[in-house]
Amino acid sequence: MNKVYCIGELLIDFVAEKQGSDLSKATNFTKKAGGAPANVACAISKLGGESFFIGCVGKDPFGTFLLTILEEHGVDISMAQRSSTFTTLAFVSLAEDGERDFVFSRGADKELQYNSEYRNKFKGNILHLGAATALLGGSLEDAYKHYFFDALSQGAFICFDPNFRGDLWKGKENLFIEKCLPYIEKSDLCKFSMEEAQLLSGKEDLNEACDFLHNVGAKVITITLGGDGTLLSTSKSKKNIPSIKVSPVDTTGAGDAFIGCLLQQISALADFKTIFNDESILTNMVLMANKAGAITTTNYGAIESLPNLNQLQH
Ligand code: ATP
Repeated sequence: MNKVYCIGELLIDFVAEKQGSDLSKATNFTKKAGGAPANVACAISKLGGESFFIGCVGKDPFGTFLLTILEEHGVDISMAQRSSTFTTLAFVSLAEDGERDFVFSRGADKELQYNSEYRNKFKGNILHLGAATALLGGSLEDAYKHYFFDALSQGAFICFDPNFRGDLWKGKENLFIEKCLPYIEKSDLCKFSMEEAQLLSGKEDLNEACDFLHNVGAKVITITLGGDGTLLSTSKSKKNIPSIKVSPVDTTGAGDAFIGCLLQQISALADFKTIFNDESILTNMVLMANKAGAITTTNYGAIESLPNLNQLQH
């Protein structure tokens, strides 16, 4: 089993209790652990993989709460840091159909410091880069870049998820695209939503978007399509891999469950190249990852809803 290092933000999601009200009307909020790369780390360890979280939280009770949750889910937090800035907060409300609305209050996540002692950890392992806040500047962005180049120089398997959040990049979409492209260029696997694939490629049509993103350099592309499953694209083929039928109540974390499940399966391979050479193995992995995403939508919250191995196998 190879290790999966997940870098990016870990934050508190304050989720509006009353489903169907937007943030302007919500009054009561429930505190939940959130942050896409942290969710991915939990998804991996919940399925039996070995995951590490690299990110920063505050030296406050919220930071303690978050790191405790990761530990309880089996994520190694020895590379996580704490700063004296408050823990990053996100306020989330759910509409009737389970779609969500976000407001961010950015704090400690931006203060992650690069640690050169970790430089040699990536050989033979996986680095997963989640970009929701990492490309917004701060020392996190520098650390992110350094670990990316460290992992590349050691031939690690690289996975990139842009995690585009419109309210964070309003009016700066071109800068977001410019910042993402170098990561896409060098990634073995990219996970996009439909909107992200269209934004980053400038193409409406998803087949054309994939061609563009392959030309940039992405080797394997997955475009998650909610209830419609996933478009899997490689240099050899493009195909839609269906999901299972569920009744969703909250889609938060479905994409993280998907990519976490896919990375957990890849981490179990003796040779990562298998996914480039054997389409049927990759297809089966995506089928399983779709199931992980689907199960996550059937419960509230992100980390709490991530499936374990038993749920995936039934
Ligand atoms: P996120 O909102 O976390 O960024 P995302 O938009 O990337 O996620 P989705 O497309 O919502 O991710 O979901 C990821 C995967 O989970 C999908 O590719 C699909 O396989 C599965 N999934 C999500 N929603 C449903 C659904 N309603 N029914 C069945 N499967 C679903």
